[in-house]
This record gives sequence, structure tokens and C-alpha cells, in this order.
Amino acid sequence: MIDIANNIQTLAEQSSDTYDLINPHTRQKIRAIPECTSEQMEKAIVKGKTAFQKMKALTSEERSSILEKVCEIIAENKEDFAKTITLESGKPIRFALGEVDRTIQTFKFAAIEARKLEGESIRLDAATNGGGRDAYTIYQPIGVVGAITPFNFPLNLVAHKVGPALAVGNSIIVKPAEKTPLSAIKLVEAFKQAGLPDDAYQVITGDGPRLGKVMIDHPDVAKITFTGSPEVGKLIKSQVGLKKITLELGNNSALYVDNSVRDKIKDIAEKAVVGAFSYNGQVCISTQRIYVHEEVKDEFLTHFKQVTDALVYGDPNDPNTDVSGIIDEKSQNRLLDWIKEAVQEGGELVTGGELQENGIQPTILANVPKDTNVSCNEVFGPVVIVNSVRSADEALAEMNDSIYGLNAGVFTYHLPQAFTFAHELEVGQVLINDIPTLRFDHMPYGGLKSSGYGYEGIKYAMREMVHMKFISMNYN
Ligand code: NAD
Repeated sequence: MIDIANNIQTLAEQSSDTYDLINPHTRQKIRAIPECTSEQMEKAIVKGKTAFQKMKALTSEERSSILEKVCEIIAENKEDFAKTITLESGKPIRFALGEVDRTIQTFKFAAIEARKLEGESIRLDAATNGGGRDAYTIYQPIGVVGAITPFNFPLNLVAHKVGPALAVGNSIIVKPAEKTPLSAIKLVEAFKQAGLPDDAYQVITGDGPRLGKVMIDHPDVAKITFTGSPEVGKLIKSQVGLKKITLELGNNSALYVDNSVRDKIKDIAEKAVVGAFSYNGQVCISTQRIYVHEEVKDEFLTHFKQVTDALVYGDPNDPNTDVSGIIDEKSQNRLLDWIKEAVQEGGELVTGGELQENGIQPTILANVPKDTNVSCNEVFGPVVIVNSVRSADEALAEMNDSIYGLNAGVFTYHLPQAFTFAHELEVGQVLINDIPTLRFDHMPYGGLKSSGYGYEGIKYAMREMVHMKFISMNYN
């Protein structure tokens, strides 16, 4: 077990303020968390600068070895990490264990990519008067990275920032979500054991707008990488000036089920249940809008409802639990309002819609009008809509009628149709014959429209955390 009492104590020594960390399942206090001061953040940036010099001095093999070592340490403490995720986020333990496995993979990819960050040779003699020179590019680390992360994957989404930053030789400071700081702190301890230079990865806990602004404004923070809501992402983008920035934001992920896949409807319905209700729908690529060809809609909805109704609600620590509480009361009330609005506007409540202890029953709404919140905004909860369409063209138009553009899924046996969706969907990632709730940690991952700016996925995130330098050697 990795003990983080000392880490929290160290943060608390510089700040007299604390806030209560609440268990989303019991709604009871877990412990007090330091509300770090702005000066603490500034000191962390100074320490991060010193750590950057140490990181720069390491070879890529040494950085890779540290990342490999941290994978071993996380694997040895898998249960401990998973229980921490469940405690602070209310995520059912099965999914928390899955998140730890993914985190190990994320760092494994970072360890691999650390050894492979190579520039290219440029033929300058392709330009008039360019001959007589050897020219090439190299990638150089940029310095201190400032990361701001959300509550829903408190370990793996931190890893998606820490892994690439360390792989290229930067140092990084993470300001984790107020609701879920413990996993990020535990990771600091794991890196200490893995031999990472002191302060190359630091965590500063507390208020997002205040501490985030210190990072955004500080001249020694070279890049801001943010994962969270579109509202906050847009605000940060407006504040960041010429600093490098990556934004991974929200979505209202759509799925189309064509009539050509009639023989697979049961299987697709089961997958769609996983997509809609994993971690109670609190996933940026949760399956939110399902468009089903009218010829197969009834069959799809029957199976979809059946599997949804069989989900087990309960204590997130129980390995049999599928769905549990919503992160807080405010989100819970918003979800209830949105469900009510959808029904008032003519949507049909197929199942769910009620409070269930500290959560919401998995909820299916059918034939929901377009301008309702559950249709056009990000639900971020266990609520999904199923609407019928007369054709693939209609589905494509509905799917693209969104302010978001992260992931979209399409089930079809029709090859030209698959290519049309692949080319025409206005999203960063198109998943043919898969649900939209799909991400592998090394794939490029980024959103269009209000869903983001720039890319993650280890190799792609690394490219956004370096300077590309061009060098020419005139040998005339
Ligand atoms: P949030 O935007 O409320 O908070 C995210 C982080 O931003 C927190 O650490 C918070 O303290 C900080 N923050 C808040 N206001 C800030 C400000 N003014 N300046 C700087 N930092 C500030 O998001 P959340 O509720 O924690 O997470 C849910 C959102 O995250 C959803 O919209 C979801 O889609 C999105 N998300 C996106 C991805 C992705 O990869 N695209 C992944 C997970 C979650």
C-alpha cells in the first residue's frame, strides 16, 4: 500500500486552509484536503524549473526506465490505487480496476515513445539555392507543464499528461479536480519510488480558477494541458495568450445503428448499454444519442431496455455493482431537471428517470425533440436517448447537428455507407462497428468544435509538449 499521509501533510504545512473531500457514495467526509495558496503554486513552479534541468540531463533510456518502473509499482499496488479511485470518485470497483490497468498501459506507451521521439532530415537542395547544406529537425522539451484534470478518471487522465511530459523530458505540475485529488497524489509517491528526480511531477490541490490562473499567467509555465468541461476550457483558452495549450473537452456522443446489422442487434444493444452507463455515464465519450434505423428500432429498444434494467445498482466497493452514485447533488439535480424537460417536450420515458439513493436510475428516453438539453448538451450522467431515423443520411445529419465533435460510432455492414460516415462525421474519432465510448490509450484523441483543441494519445501528446527545432549545416 502506498501511504500518502506525508504528502498531504507537506502540502498542509504551507496552507492553513482546507476543504472537505466527500465520498460520492456515502456523501460523508473522507478527510480534509489542503486548499493550497497561490504562493504554494508559485513555489511549485520554481521547483519545477529546477526539476526540468534534471529531467533534461537524463537520457531517453533513463526516462523510459523510470516510466517502466512506475508501471511495476502501480501493478504491485493495483488494489490500493483502485480503492482510492472508488473512494474519491464513487466509480464501481470493477471500473476502477480497469482504470488502473489502463494507467499502466498509458505509462508503458510513454516508456516506449520516450525512446522514439525522432525528428527528420530535410532536403534543402529541393529549393533553389538550398544546396550544400545538411538540415534536420530535433524535438526539445519545453520546461514546466501545467496540467488541470477532471474528476471522472482521477488516475488515467492524470497519466495522460504526466506520461508524455516526462517522456520528452519536461517537468509537470498537476492541479487535480477538487473532488478527486488522492489518486494523483498517490501517483507522486509511486514516481518517487520509481526514481523520478525530485519535483519533476508535483501535485497542488485546491481551487481550480485561482490555482489554474497562477499556472496560466506564470511566465515559467510553458504549456497548459487541460481536460474538463468546454466552459472552463474556453475560458482558459481566452486567458492563455501565446502559451502552448491542449484542451480535451466534452461531447454528446452519437451512435448510429443501421438496418443492415439486424442479425447483430442484441449484441449491439449490450455494447450500447456499456457505452451509456459505464461509470454512470460520467465519461466524456459516454454514448448519449443513439439513432436507430426505423426498421430495427423496436427490436433494438426492447433489448437495450432489458439489459439496462438488469444493471445492478449499489455500493461501488462491491465487485458486482454496475452503477452507483452521481458525483454530487448539484449534478444529480441537473440530471433530474433535464429528464423532466425531455418528457415535458414530448420525449417518451422508456425506463428509469428517478432518484436511486445518491444516484439516478439508468434512464432511457425515446423520440426526444432536438432542442432539449439531453439531446443538444452534454448529459454526463446515466441518461441516453434513442431516436429512430428513416435513413443513414438522416442519421448522419442528426449526428453532425451538435456543438461537439469528439467520438462517434456507427454499426453497419454497408461498406460505402461506412466510408461516407468515416469521411463526413464532424468528429475527431470515428469508430465503425464500435460504440463511441471507446478509447485506447495510444491512439490519437482530440475533439473538433466545442470538444477540444489539440491532441492526446501518448505519441500525439508528446508532440504538443516539445519545440521542434530546425538545424541547418552549411558545408560549402
Ligand atoms: P470541470 O471543467 O468542472 O473541472 C476540470 C478541472 O478544471 C478541475 O481540476 C477544476 O478545478 C478546474 N477548473 C475549474 N474552473 C477553472 C478555471 N476557471 N480555471 C482553471 N481551472 C479550472 O470538469 P469536471 O466536472 O471535473 O469534468 C467533467 C468534464 O470533463 C466533462 O465536460 C467531460 O466531458 C470532460 N472530460 C473530457 C475528457 C476528454 O478527454 N475529452 C475526458 C474526461 C472528462
